[in-house]
Amino acid sequence: MFLQYYFALGESDTAAVRRVRETVRYFLGCREVSTAESEHGFLIVPGHPVDHGALADLMAEAVRNVGRATEVPDRHLITPMLGFDFACAWDKATAPVCPRCRTPLDGWDEEDWMYGAEPFETCGSCEYTALAGDWDLTNASFAKTNCGVALLDWPNLWEYAREVHEHALGLIGRRARYLCGAVG
Ligand SMILES: [Zn+2]
Repeated sequence: MFLQYYFALGESDTAAVRRVRETVRYFLGCREVSTAESEHGFLIVPGHPVDHGALADLMAEAVRNVGRATEVPDRHLITPMLGFDFACAWDKATAPVCPRCRTPLDGWDEEDWMYGAEPFETCGSCEYTALAGDWDLTNASFAKTNCGVALLDWPNLWEYAREVHEHALGLIGRRARYLCGAVG
């Protein structure tokens, strides 16, 4: 299974519901279209009609599960994340990587963030210092969010559908981040 998370680190709980709904709506309107015009053989095309019942069901479930971590979203191809939740690359997950010199964060303890505020971290190589969420989280073992959407077994949007990827980051909110990884 391949997981992708689009999430924000800077949204209030009240704004998160609207942000997550709009992002889920956007993904529900995406279709995979086979085409020889793409070097990958397909395109992800947004803007299709959205099943509003499906959108309402997904959001209602997310509201019911506020505060319960999504972990591996095993039932839906699109899972809204509200309240306490986290993104994790699972298999082969790494520590956050220094965005300046690419050194993985030494002594990374995800529990600091899991049970507290987002920590400041300092790179042992170049002394870059920033909130953990400002490090490269692409394959990170943990990131905490109250405003996100998890995609299960979608094509790698960062690789194959860059415009969809950028649009989703714009929708999900402030300090938008992307994290991906595999399970099993
Ligand atoms: Zn560094």
